[in-house]
Amino acid sequence: MKNKIFLLFTLLSLAAVITTTSVISIAAYNKNFDAVKKEVAENAKYIAAGAGQNGSEYLASLPKSSTHRVTLISAGGEVLFDSRSNASQMENHRERPEVIAALELGAGEATRRSATLKTTEYYYALRLNNGDVIRLACETRSIGDSFNEFFIIAAAIAIAVLIISALLASKLTKSIIAPINNINLENPEKSKVYDELAPLVLRIKQQHMQIVKQMSRQKRAQTEFSLITSNMREGFLVLGSDGCVLSYNKSALKLLDSKISDASGRTALVLNRNGKFRTLLQNAFLGEKQSEVIRISHREILVTANPVVEDEVKGFVVVLFDITEKQEREKLRREFTANVSHELKTPLTSISGYAELMAAGVARPEDTKEFAERILTEAKNLVALIHDLMLLSKLEEAPPMQMQQVSLLSVCNNVKYRLEQKAAEKELTLSITGEDAELLGIPAVIEEMVFNLCDNAIKYNKQGGSVEVSILKEEACINLCVADTGGGIPAAEKERIFERFYRIDKSRNSTVPGTGLGLAIVKHGAMLHNAKVDVKSDANGSSFIVSFRL
Ligand code: ADP
Repeated sequence: MKNKIFLLFTLLSLAAVITTTSVISIAAYNKNFDAVKKEVAENAKYIAAGAGQNGSEYLASLPKSSTHRVTLISAGGEVLFDSRSNASQMENHRERPEVIAALELGAGEATRRSATLKTTEYYYALRLNNGDVIRLACETRSIGDSFNEFFIIAAAIAIAVLIISALLASKLTKSIIAPINNINLENPEKSKVYDELAPLVLRIKQQHMQIVKQMSRQKRAQTEFSLITSNMREGFLVLGSDGCVLSYNKSALKLLDSKISDASGRTALVLNRNGKFRTLLQNAFLGEKQSEVIRISHREILVTANPVVEDEVKGFVVVLFDITEKQEREKLRREFTANVSHELKTPLTSISGYAELMAAGVARPEDTKEFAERILTEAKNLVALIHDLMLLSKLEEAPPMQMQQVSLLSVCNNVKYRLEQKAAEKELTLSITGEDAELLGIPAVIEEMVFNLCDNAIKYNKQGGSVEVSILKEEACINLCVADTGGGIPAAEKERIFERFYRIDKSRNSTVPGTGLGLAIVKHGAMLHNAKVDVKSDANGSSFIVSFRL
């Protein structure tokens, strides 16, 4: 812009300088030429008068230094005298325009370049009375000479114009640009600008408002998106076509076990060096959706890469799910089904075996009673198993059972009543100590928990031992403890006994009937009541403590 203004100024100024110089040169030339003509005509008259009286003698007496060259030419054109050259050597002048005019009209003039003097001359000729022609010539300047005279001045002016133009262009550019640069883009209407900039300021204001609106809309969308994705348990990554991360959430880094704090702009392959992960991304790059379960830091992660295709692969959306728990649940379910089938099949096989023997009449009459008793025992076991299974599934489904105030002492008394016979058979003392305590719970479930603990305390006790149920109310909880004098539980088994169908050393327990579900029922019952179960055990006996939080 600055250069354009400078060029414009310079061209305009130079055009002005050249035009002015030309006009002045022409005017000066014309003025000078008129003066020369007048002077020559005056002089010619005097010299003609002198020459008319004394002829060539008069002419010879004229001072040689005169600026005018004087020539006397006969009517035939022969040069009779010339104040600057030898007349006899000069050619005939009859055809000179000024001579022709003088002979015809009495006076004539012409301007041309002199072949003799090699200068531009003004000629003025006058016809004498005797028919001869007296001619005066005076060197005159051409327009070019006149222009040359002004050239140095014009050049000086032109240089001055160039400098002034440069300065003016710079200043003018600054004065045009500065207000534009100083426009406050946040509040354009508050900027001080010249009138011509008002439409621009208005446009900037409108655009600024539009940008602010779009930015806030985009920010809101971005915040919503970040809020949603940051609270997602699932991980997600948006990758560009070059495999670099455009967007991600924290769960993605966590699931990929990446130590990188900021993944933006980094290639996804640095997030995890797992070969399967690399292959999955490479295959997705070919445009096919990929899905694979990848084991990362002892967890099973389902990684799905969806290519974003628009004519070509523009990027990927990678979603990561932690399916470890789901898979574990699946495994447990499979194990549970296998266990249930096995536990149901064992008594049924035995029942059908004895029944078959009896039906076929193979059993001896004296064995029939024993077979029938075995069938009865197995059937009771089956009923107990089905009862426990149904109870457990009820607890696991955690239906919204009605909670109510439960008296622990009356629950314990109920259980004592139900198990007294069983305890007596083993000559056990079954006692309840402590004060009554009430808690909010489901009476049937709490009774089932106490029953199972007491039943185990009897089953795994020694002959003539004791079972003590105590209730201890503390500040923040109520502890229910069932202690026995049995052989105890090995430390390594303390966790596992709460698993479904788990029984310690089945061969050792083979004489003790059980489903392996009693403690699983206790655990789930405790979970329903937000309580925790602890086991203390040694060779002298075991204590199961259920802590109900108040
Ligand atoms: P079961 O029907 O076999 O009693 P449980 O789930 O109630 O099933 O108990 C799991 C296992 O824990 C039992 O088989 C037994 O080996 C052990 N156990 C439970 N309670 C006691 C206890 N009081 N003393 C010793 N061992 C016990």
